[in-house]
Amino acid sequence: VFDHVVRAPEDPILGVTVAYNKDPSPVKLNLGVGAYRTEEGKPLVLNVVRKAEQMLVNDSSRVKEYLPIVGLADFNKLSAKLILGADSPAIQENRVTTVQCLSGTGSLRVGAEFLARHYHQRTIFIPLPTWGNHPKVFSLAGLSVKTYRYYDPATRGLNFQGLLEDLGSAPLGSIVLLHSCAHNPTGVDPTPQQWEQIRRLLRSRALLPFFDSAYQGFASGSLDTDAQSVRMFVADGGECFVAQSYAKNMGLYGERVGALSIGFASGSLDTDAQSVRMFVADGGECFVAQSYAKNMGLYGERVGALSIVCRSADVANRVESQLKLVVRPMYSNPPIHGASIVATILKDRAMFQEWTIELKAMADRIISMRQKLFEALRSRGTPGDWSHIIKQIGMFTFTGLNPEQVAFMTKEYHIYMTSDGRISMAGLSSKTVPHLADAIHAAVMR
Ligand code: PMP
Repeated sequence: VFDHVVRAPEDPILGVTVAYNKDPSPVKLNLGVGAYRTEEGKPLVLNVVRKAEQMLVNDSSRVKEYLPIVGLADFNKLSAKLILGADSPAIQENRVTTVQCLSGTGSLRVGAEFLARHYHQRTIFIPLPTWGNHPKVFSLAGLSVKTYRYYDPATRGLNFQGLLEDLGSAPLGSIVLLHSCAHNPTGVDPTPQQWEQIRRLLRSRALLPFFDSAYQGFASGSLDTDAQSVRMFVADGGECFVAQSYAKNMGLYGERVGALSIGFASGSLDTDAQSVRMFVADGGECFVAQSYAKNMGLYGERVGALSIVCRSADVANRVESQLKLVVRPMYSNPPIHGASIVATILKDRAMFQEWTIELKAMADRIISMRQKLFEALRSRGTPGDWSHIIKQIGMFTFTGLNPEQVAFMTKEYHIYMTSDGRISMAGLSSKTVPHLADAIHAAVMR
């Protein structure tokens, strides 16, 4: 009865790894999937994660009972705090409901299912381009997927005018998917000023923001440099009060936007959450899907969270009751192990500190790979402006190489990447940069 079933194509991203695994070449290089590798090209389990796992194993009071439908309570609370900030009024006013889900993908999917059932608008606008799984996640949940202009191939930067036009003409109330930082695949993020304009536009047209936060802590802009003095005081584990103002740096003089952080203020985790916090600060609704795959290296543990920020505690409460009805027939309740690791780390000051240091080391290694690749191309005299390699943010570089050039690099140099020319900088090492630069040079010179 299944004779009619045709072979489905490989997933465009995970299929790259399938092809890579089949290649016997000793110089082969997998720059397809977005997973962190060490300088030795090995997957990394963070020390702080190992430590948390050891603590969990040694705790004989721990059992393997089912979690509630919404997951581990501590994990949910701490995840909301991590993305929204410890001092978030939305959290204090109990307007946030958070559900532990199966990593980022599961969080997006549960959010999408909820919206398909309970939201008056069925259209979601996603950036062009975006992570390849987004259109499928949302359309299979019953939403109608449209795109808004995001990337400008000519500048290899943001098409901000196009974005404003497209979202400005989106039907009132439409859902808008936003990458909270380190946009995948382009590595191009709006500036804080542009974020503020996007926020005003969305709010003025009652567009519903749905943030995808898959890289919190992985990106890092120059805002970091300016925060060094504060962080020095925070890194030593002692208390620290920080009063932040957005008057000057965002030109929000009369808006009176500021924040007070005490103690836990951390490095780039906070910077990477600014876009989300800007939307929550204005009191409006907001969806956030969080993943711990990249920033804690918990890829296969499938640990993430969906938070829905509502206008009142009462609404948040009713929304949560409906989220349970979404989750129960889908997978009943989420797995316990990964969420316990995250909760163990987030709730302990010293372990949290250790995490931010390891996270920063990962982010810094990626940034140094950007610099090395840029310099390697410059020293080869490869035609073109490659400065986007150092300007783009996060795990990926959107090289601008076309599908033919990518196919050439795979065939002749055994370098595997998605056909849109995206390379995972986290898969590179000092040893493999020259090989990649040779391949790009040859591809461009053909
Ligand atoms: N969103 C984006 C933009 C991503 O890049 C990813 C991972 N590649 C995800 C969501 C979800 O990943 P996961 O389900 O592994 O957390």
